[in-house]
Amino acid sequence: MRRKLAAGNWKMNGLRAALSEVELLAKAQPAPNCEVVLCPPATLVRSMAKVCVDNCVTIGAQDCHENSSGAHTGDISAEMLVDAGAEYVILGHSERREAYGESDETVRLKAKAAWAAGLSAIICVGESEEQRRATNTLDIIGGQLAGSIPDAATGENLVVAYEPIWAIGTGLVPSLGDIGEVHDFIRMRLERRFGEGVGRSVRVLYGGSMNPGNVDDIRRVPNVDGGLIGGASLKAADFSKIIAALAA
Ligand code: PEP
Repeated sequence: MRRKLAAGNWKMNGLRAALSEVELLAKAQPAPNCEVVLCPPATLVRSMAKVCVDNCVTIGAQDCHENSSGAHTGDISAEMLVDAGAEYVILGHSERREAYGESDETVRLKAKAAWAAGLSAIICVGESEEQRRATNTLDIIGGQLAGSIPDAATGENLVVAYEPIWAIGTGLVPSLGDIGEVHDFIRMRLERRFGEGVGRSVRVLYGGSMNPGNVDDIRRVPNVDGGLIGGASLKAADFSKIIAALAA
């Protein structure tokens, strides 16, 4: 049985005042069936980790560098994130792949660095609108999985997030059938590459305009083990509803 996971991606949002939302979330009734991870901007990792100590919310970051230290102005290493209290890191989000030209190879190196430092990696894959229209979504996803995930994957160090780029922040969501097709494909590829044991234990999240209104339908799709949630994770009231639905 894979434990459900609700991962909130705050992107470049949140000042210290936003910690009150996290306090609300941290005080809420724990949902044992659903792990909760919040990934704030790097500036809030430490303070959020302090707020969440001894409760059911775990902290993640949104990126790390592939090296552990050195002359990389503006970058943050996986080791630094662990030092600040992070346990997860999102890697290969489409916004980073697009804005910073991050390739599958870069994502794979970052994942190796994350694992070496003891972080679990939430590796994002997803097709663009053009790619979906050209009906080669599964080829794109297959290539990203093969290129972005290092060989030493386990059910503990890896989470895969399927995030169709055209669904992120747009209010658009694929049909449940389309979500199911991609999630089944990801599971099949994970099992084929890493063996049934590991392949079945890696959680596969759906991401892209998930909200309290659609989570209940999406969570019922086979091989959907939770969500990577952007906008709807910023407010404790909305995120709590998503967590409760995933835990049901
Ligand atoms: C995301 O940024 O990973 C995401 C899924 O965003 P949203 O939920 O806002 O579409």
